[in-house]
Amino acid sequence: MLDDILDYTENIRERPVWQPIPRAVRAAFREPLPQKPVHLASIHNTFMRDILPYSVGNAHPGFMGWVHGGGTPVGMLAEMLAAGLNGNLGGRDQIPIEVERQVLRWVRELFGFPDTASGLFVTGTSMANLIAVLVARTKAIGAGVRRQGVAATGKRLTAYTSAGAHCSIAQAMDLAGLGSDVLRIIPVNGRYQIDIHALEEAIGRDRSAGLTPFLIAATAGTVDVGAVDHLAAVAEIARRETVWFHVDGAYGALAMLAPDLAPRLAGIERADSIAFDFNKWGQVPYDAGFVLVRDGTLHQSTFASPAAYLRRETRGMAAGSPWPCDFGPDLSRGFRALKTWFTIKAYGAEKLGAMISKTCALARYLKHCIEAEAALELLAPVALNIVCFRYRSGNADEVNRNIVADLQESGIAAPSTTTVNGCLAIRAAIVNHRTNRSDIDALLQAVLVLGSVHGNRQSKAQP
Ligand SMILES: *Cc1c(COP(=O)(O)O)cnc(C)c1O
Repeated sequence: MLDDILDYTENIRERPVWQPIPRAVRAAFREPLPQKPVHLASIHNTFMRDILPYSVGNAHPGFMGWVHGGGTPVGMLAEMLAAGLNGNLGGRDQIPIEVERQVLRWVRELFGFPDTASGLFVTGTSMANLIAVLVARTKAIGAGVRRQGVAATGKRLTAYTSAGAHCSIAQAMDLAGLGSDVLRIIPVNGRYQIDIHALEEAIGRDRSAGLTPFLIAATAGTVDVGAVDHLAAVAEIARRETVWFHVDGAYGALAMLAPDLAPRLAGIERADSIAFDFNKWGQVPYDAGFVLVRDGTLHQSTFASPAAYLRRETRGMAAGSPWPCDFGPDLSRGFRALKTWFTIKAYGAEKLGAMISKTCALARYLKHCIEAEAALELLAPVALNIVCFRYRSGNADEVNRNIVADLQESGIAAPSTTTVNGCLAIRAAIVNHRTNRSDIDALLQAVLVLGSVHGNRQSKAQP
């Protein structure tokens, strides 16, 4: 099994990025509950034949759809060790939790947070955003809300984010019982950053109406075009208005590792909380989300529970309080910290930063190629590693939608689509450390060929 999966990562370029799933393969996963053991070698054969070839392909250098990390063999092997230990990191006195705290210390150092800041591994940034919204809710209306519910406070909390924010911010408002309607969606400027003036106006309007603004969720690296909000300006408004300043840095926050990119995130060190994923730009295998909270005490008071079976002692296995389960809703928790700790140690912050920087250089290369090619059109500024463009044509949305579907089915490259200013865009998010110029060239070449096919078809169809 080890040989096969190492061969897979080593020779991944020889494979298609993704391929359509044959009906028979899908049908193989409709069998009844197995009553008798199946030989391990046979299960592994099924894995090689029916599972491995039909994943989404984000380990492949041609994968540019959505913001997915590529993973590494180091992370994979660390995950195997973690599974062998079968650690449960909800609590108790054990070194695996010290490993998680070590990663927390590195994260504090990276973002310039104080020693009193708390942090926690979670599934992903969606969960990290939810935790941040819940801690901000505690700050605004107190921990009593945990027993009494939101309605009892009589306050109408309002939150603010940009039109480019990820949908998990609205979902967090929903799950926190505050409602997504009170999340004010602020328009973006020409660089797809939150419009600072409109933000101030919206807060002022809500205050005048007797509502209680409590949270601004800025984004470092929007999911559609990779824009970074003006974090220092948002921090200043949050301070003046005494509202919580959260940064959704799902993939972009780790740009702090790259000296050429870190200045663009200036102001992130003033955040009350940051949500990000090690499994995106950090290349740690899925899943490895993280939430960092400046006020560790407030964070703990949002989640800690007095359950008797979670009783703490000063010695024995029940020592070592506070435990990770005091900082989030999960009690059973895997050892996500190990693959992250291995990744950071095996490559070092400098090399990880250089890799992140390289993906942005590739995005600039792609941008220049698009600008030099009359048949193509850039649709959004390239702030980090995401490039939105299209093939120029009549009925461009239809043509570009077909180009992307053909590309994905061809296995050559896998961009995704998004909508920019009402136009359907081919979106290339360059996140994978394995991607290089030849992959960008292959993408461009294929877009031009497919574009001329679909574009011609369009012009023939016109009367
Ligand atoms: C990916 C992403 C998310 C969601 O993170 P998950 O780890 O998929 O839950 C949230 N915000 C932004 C900006 C993202 O890029």
